[in-house]
Amino acid sequence: AGSASASSIRQVKLDRESELRIEVGSDSPLRLRLLSGNAEIFGTELPPEIWLTLPPRLKIAVFTWYGATLEMDGATETDYTADETPMIGYVNVHAILEARRSRARASSSDDPGSTQGPRVIVVGPTDSGKSTLSRMLLSWAAKQGWKPTFVDLDIGQGSITIPGCIAATPIELPIDPVEGIPLEMPLVYFYGHTTPSNNVDLYKVLVKELAQVLERQFTGNAESRAAGMVINTMGWIEGVGYELLLHAIDTLNANVVLVLGQEKLWSMLKDVLKNKPNVDVVKLQKSGGVVSRNAKFRQKARSYRIREYFYGPANDLSPHSNIANFSDLFIYRIGGGPQAPRSALPIGAEPAADPTRLVPVNINRDLLHLVLAVSFAKEPEEIISSNVAGFVYITDIDIQRKKITYLAPSAGELPGKYLIVGTLTWIET
Ligand code: ATP
Repeated sequence: AGSASASSIRQVKLDRESELRIEVGSDSPLRLRLLSGNAEIFGTELPPEIWLTLPPRLKIAVFTWYGATLEMDGATETDYTADETPMIGYVNVHAILEARRSRARASSSDDPGSTQGPRVIVVGPTDSGKSTLSRMLLSWAAKQGWKPTFVDLDIGQGSITIPGCIAATPIELPIDPVEGIPLEMPLVYFYGHTTPSNNVDLYKVLVKELAQVLERQFTGNAESRAAGMVINTMGWIEGVGYELLLHAIDTLNANVVLVLGQEKLWSMLKDVLKNKPNVDVVKLQKSGGVVSRNAKFRQKARSYRIREYFYGPANDLSPHSNIANFSDLFIYRIGGGPQAPRSALPIGAEPAADPTRLVPVNINRDLLHLVLAVSFAKEPEEIISSNVAGFVYITDIDIQRKKITYLAPSAGELPGKYLIVGTLTWIET
């Protein structure tokens, strides 16, 4: 057996400024290590000689600035080396951001604008590498000692917490290529759906709430203010998607807009933002390594993400199944609700449902398999403006005994008594 496993180990030599692109197979993990030279995965350096275990389905690139030798152990879906990458362009952006951070830190002016570091927003179509570029910029900044704030507005495939949320967290260390972002205490708002069209107004309201909280935090923290933000966005860039991008740029006061992989979007944004002289709109090349993911893959990725929340990235957490009485939980839905029947409205009028109205939800079997958020709100009126503590998953509803069974990260009382439900479902596999 010893020789069999030894023979599955392969060496790969990378020339300077090239990368090894890997798609780990769907059945088994891949082991990888750096034998000599220097290399990084999306901005985070590989430690020398230590084997990393890359989980199934991970898609990554190991990039080297000056050359490296790697070893791989196990099968991959694909792996190949590429010497054409947009990395020089990306690291040049990083250098400009670094200069702005240092300038912000050194500024002694009373003008709040001059002590504010860069607020970078990364935009582009789906599968243009937005999350990956955000990650690199954050990891490179963290490596130089900054604690930039990562803001993730992507409710479809977020990197901070489960889908259906917008969230923010400071990044204090380069992001681990396997473990991702440590979930210490992210600031999370629950939107509850995986596409913004379900409730565009609610999405905007939540972005605004998040922006206000961050603004307050920056006021009291010169260091994180100077480090600035990196904002990742959704790949939805047409119609309402475009409107939401403009809304995010405006609400979060972004001053650097990085446009990946689409000339048209770049030119549109450049045009609408031309009367804001302090906003730079920069076009960047998309990496040929970015892997396209179809709807089915995305759905699966969402499901893994929820699983990961409850069971941990390495299946190392044990969630707890809890039983509560119907009367113990107060569940709300945001938006919609009972509408006036069309027949009761004047001719030609559309029934208008208030998109941010709070609607109490009766507990019934419709809640089965839904993922709900636990709000920090103390009163129902505070639900929309409150961030959430975590999530529960409804596994059983017993109508007769009026009992509800849910999975939570731990046993014991929930951190809040108000729960929010949307359309986010999960089938445990
Ligand atoms: P979306 O907004 O559509 O969800 P995105 O634009 O944020 O996607 P990413 O998530 O950054 O795109 O990239 C898509 C996938 O491609 C990810 O799995 C990422 O790890 C992988 N990827 C990105 N760059 C490379 C590369 N150079 N080599 C190999 N894989 C890569």
